[in-house]
Amino acid sequence: VTARRPFIAGNWKMNLDHLQSIAFVQKLAWSLKDAKHDFGKVEAAIFPPFTDLRSVQTLIDADKLDLELGAQDLSDNDSGAYTGDISGAFLARLDVKYVIVGHSERRTIHGETDEVVGAKVAAAHRHGLVPVLCVGETAEDLEKHGPSAVPVAQLRAALTTLPAGAEIVVAYEPVWAIGSGQAATPDQAEQVCAALRDALVEIAGADSAAATRILYGGSVKANNIASFLREPNVDGALVGGASLDITEFASIVRYQN
Ligand code: PEP
Repeated sequence: VTARRPFIAGNWKMNLDHLQSIAFVQKLAWSLKDAKHDFGKVEAAIFPPFTDLRSVQTLIDADKLDLELGAQDLSDNDSGAYTGDISGAFLARLDVKYVIVGHSERRTIHGETDEVVGAKVAAAHRHGLVPVLCVGETAEDLEKHGPSAVPVAQLRAALTTLPAGAEIVVAYEPVWAIGSGQAATPDQAEQVCAALRDALVEIAGADSAAATRILYGGSVKANNIASFLREPNVDGALVGGASLDITEFASIVRYQN
């Protein structure tokens, strides 16, 4: 079995301007350092708004902070007449490593289809970024189709193939659990994450599937994170609300302690 390094990803959404983000990241890094967090054992990444990326990247670089940097979205195009969009090339220039693709808020608020999400996965790979591909069902989907059908269909639609050597992170985020305070149970998360891994075997082959980290997201907090990470197919968490509280997020990253 391939060892997968647990991954805790903090999605700030549209919160913290670039000045607030500087104070936040410094305090978070000190908190992890004081606690002697072992970055080799659990990887932590933050996903600030685009306008914070430069400030946060400078801090990470200058102070050699044990934090990876991610963006919340990217364009499926590389350059041109796409007012307001951000190219993966720009993100790569800022040393951004990860990029969230297909978050349910982008799918619902901005009408992103599986086709667009798939094109964004490809754009991320073109620029050497690791996409964090979000999939997940609504409460209505769950009632109609059962637990795994919609997330697996979204994965297959966005990821028809995985180019050799291309890394991806998959995040299972039931829409009904996001920001609701009502997390899935660890059993529910494991069932869907296992089904996603089975689909990855067909898409990318057994080795790739075994090496790919699959996260759970949806009302993850310091007091429930360990129960998810105990599941064999859950390799970390995508954290929204709780990633905006330094103490809470640091405790989530340090769930093993
Ligand atoms: C999210 O939006 O990706 C998320 C998981 O949010 P929350 O942790 O607030 O439920």
